[in-house]
Amino acid sequence: MNKIGMSRKDFIKNSAISFAGLALSPAAAACPSTKVAVDEKYAPSTSYTIKNVRLETGFEYDGKNVISTKTALFSIAIDDGKIKGIGPNDPGAHAMDAHGMLMLPAFKDMHIHLDKTFYGQKWQAVRPRSGGVKGMIALEQQTMPDLLKNSTFKAEKIIELLQSKGSAFARSHVNIEPTSKLQSLKNLQKAIENKKKVFGVELVAFPQHGVYYTDSIPYLKEAAKMDIDFIGGLDPYSIDGAIEKTIDFTVQLALDNNKGIDIHLHESGESGIKTVEYLIEKVNENPTLKGKTFLSHCFVLGKLERKKEEEIAEKLAGAQIGIISTIPFGGLVMPIPTLIKRGVNVMSGNDSIVDHWNTFGSGSMLQKANLAAQLYGYSSEFGLSRMLKLATAGPLPLDDKGVQQWPKVGDVANLVFLEASCSAEAVSRISNAKSLIYRGNVVY
Ligand SMILES: [Zn+2]
Repeated sequence: MNKIGMSRKDFIKNSAISFAGLALSPAAAACPSTKVAVDEKYAPSTSYTIKNVRLETGFEYDGKNVISTKTALFSIAIDDGKIKGIGPNDPGAHAMDAHGMLMLPAFKDMHIHLDKTFYGQKWQAVRPRSGGVKGMIALEQQTMPDLLKNSTFKAEKIIELLQSKGSAFARSHVNIEPTSKLQSLKNLQKAIENKKKVFGVELVAFPQHGVYYTDSIPYLKEAAKMDIDFIGGLDPYSIDGAIEKTIDFTVQLALDNNKGIDIHLHESGESGIKTVEYLIEKVNENPTLKGKTFLSHCFVLGKLERKKEEEIAEKLAGAQIGIISTIPFGGLVMPIPTLIKRGVNVMSGNDSIVDHWNTFGSGSMLQKANLAAQLYGYSSEFGLSRMLKLATAGPLPLDDKGVQQWPKVGDVANLVFLEASCSAEAVSRISNAKSLIYRGNVVY
């Protein structure tokens, strides 16, 4: 079934009827309380129950080593977009049937550019480029007007791709610069509105062409008053020529508008580390930014000597500044294990699925967790299960001691159902997502 080629309405309709994963038993189909979303009339207050849901319940040990993950089948009641009950399984119940699939928190892509993708149109590899990021800015100044002609459509297509891989949420950067002004944001907001029942998005107002390098300030100020969540940034030193001036502006705009911060930092030399240290200083001076300030990529962390790496990781954790990494591999290895060990909030994203920057995003957050597990040698049952946090942006069914910590009654029902026996297998095999629920709405 080609979900991507369908309209949204057809997609939801077909999904609900044919329903690859969760299935309505014949008896349940006649029962109005177990109806799933089939059209626009669907109300979020709908309640239903899912039986034969596999949840992780603990680890099995051989001495000190985790050798497998224990699971059991449960019955999950959903009401008003939340988990209302977690009870013993009743295979004979009139309910939707998860057929023993593993239920996990729906995945989250925490760094993507939904506004300027080629996805949904003709395949296009990246072209030879010159002039670094500034060369790409010059290219975008030529190509953005064309890209924006159908960017709402393409954003919807890419959201459908993310959904098909088990994600129900994304943090999207959106270009705010003098070429597209606020148009990229407005086009993306239309896509978000069209998908709001089945997918969640938070937005970063992203000065892709620099804050000062091209005068983006008036547009950033306007965007900050619109429905966005974070003020973005891009390599303050190499693009704007000033670390303090650009970071000061970004911090002030975030404070004035009660937003978070998420800055693209590719600079890997001295300017990169100075930017990190200056941002840490500013966040410590303005504690309301703690927990809502992030550095995306932050490649400089992969270039530090061991001692400095540990020191910076500790400072980032202290200032509650998160790192969002695409898990790059090749010449640069990000110190993700050190960051996690020191308590830094590490999250991941596809960044580009297919655009003029990169074409290697698959849309799968489970693949990112798998890449990290391979890259850092997390091959044990325990190690694999821990890497799931890169797909879920945090929550894990079991804590490090094997105590069940998810799901809990009252949690928002953002759920993915996989053909896997446990998290470790899902990460290792990049298991298929068979069903997805967003705020209680059955997506497929
Ligand atoms: Zn990016």
